[in-house]
Amino acid sequence: MTVRVRFAPSPTGMFHVGGARSALQNWIYAKQRGGDFVLRIEDTDAARNRPEWTEGILTALDWLGIRRGTYEGPLFQSQYAAEHRKAAEQLLAMGRAYYCDCSRDDVVARTGNKHTGYDGFCRDRGLAPAEGRALRFRTPDEGATVVVDLIRGEPTFENALIEDFVIARGDGSPVFLLANVVDDMTMGITHVIRAEEHLPNTPKQQLLWQALGHQPPVWAHVPVVVNEKRQKLSKRRDKVALEQYRDEGYLADAMRNYLMLLGWAPSGDREIVPWSVVEQEFRLADVNPSPAFFDEKKLRAFNGEYIRALPPQEFVAACEPWLTGTAMIPAPPWNPADFRPADFEAVAPLAQTRIAVLSEIVPAVDFLFLPEPVVDEAAWAKAMKEGAAELLDAAIAAFGSLPEWSAEALKTTLEQVGAERGLKLGKAQAPVRVAVTGRSVGLPLFESLEVLGRERTLARLVSARARV
Ligand code: GLU
Repeated sequence: MTVRVRFAPSPTGMFHVGGARSALQNWIYAKQRGGDFVLRIEDTDAARNRPEWTEGILTALDWLGIRRGTYEGPLFQSQYAAEHRKAAEQLLAMGRAYYCDCSRDDVVARTGNKHTGYDGFCRDRGLAPAEGRALRFRTPDEGATVVVDLIRGEPTFENALIEDFVIARGDGSPVFLLANVVDDMTMGITHVIRAEEHLPNTPKQQLLWQALGHQPPVWAHVPVVVNEKRQKLSKRRDKVALEQYRDEGYLADAMRNYLMLLGWAPSGDREIVPWSVVEQEFRLADVNPSPAFFDEKKLRAFNGEYIRALPPQEFVAACEPWLTGTAMIPAPPWNPADFRPADFEAVAPLAQTRIAVLSEIVPAVDFLFLPEPVVDEAAWAKAMKEGAAELLDAAIAAFGSLPEWSAEALKTTLEQVGAERGLKLGKAQAPVRVAVTGRSVGLPLFESLEVLGRERTLARLVSARARV
């Protein structure tokens, strides 16, 4: 039997990192077995869907390496409405479903709201279909539904505790639970790998599979992703959008490596591993079922390592969107005509070891491409204390008469200028750095000055001196 998995996102917002992880796990599961991966867009909630979210899903999957054209789909749930209705009719005809005209208030009045489920009032009333009557599935009174879950063993649900749940609303439209099952059946899905949040649906869905005469799939419910307070990641509170990480300059390779570590680890005490190792070693059976902490700090550190490991030319190319601007991310603060690729390439190796996300390249090199540095006023106040004016005067004079404009010579010169005032190099550097770059921290100063050039360096020192 060919393994067929699916990833079934609803296009109702940005692409959640938890969804990205499920997609990767499905992808790897299929790949390891020579199976098929189906992308199904669950677009039946017309009020919340937007086509751009669907496009966002496709683009985000591309970015993660699940590329359009290499999988089946996208298939759209809305295209299968006839199948959903047919299944509802079939269940009705078999006596596995019945119409119900109870309102929520009716149920509460009868049960005193002691239990939240439906009390089965209409089970044997034999109501005919009519506008406003929901169709409910008749769950078995006895026995248990045992779900085979590759991560959780065999979660078992007493059938008596599963309410007669709605499968089609009062207007005849099938609900998500049913549509999702019918699509999986129609698409020949053998393994459903999805978020833990859906586990409570699973016994109901498995009963539907069986009632419709199919062998249920094997399930795997991957652990919920939580923040540092152990709260489920929420798009209102937490940074959950994959697009946002991408646009800040997380590398796809770092991101997918990190996502796979949510609940799983490769062999041998390693975390950062080539994707081929993940593809080889990942096992659903090894996934820890407890909640997985999405640690943005750790992801950042990961990304820094991935950035440092890039061949220098790839690093330069990876920075380009942030330096030259694209539609996705904010344009750089300089005039595009002032961007000089050769200057950037000269400082790129210095930046590569110092940034953790690619967007940080902009503040690291903006002093090279802006006519004036962006001055951090707090840094200015701290650096331009007593003695700064004299030091700048001396630096201007000494730098101005340097025979050779090189990092080496600049360093030796400023060392001397500082020593004459009883200042260590670090102290002597501070006013020069703020004057030239506007900041108190940044790339190594003398290399930066070398690339900036004599003329511009001196002009900035002079203008800072005037301000002090
Ligand atoms: N559309 C559902 C979701 O985005 C997927 C449910 C499933 O994977 O079965 O949560």
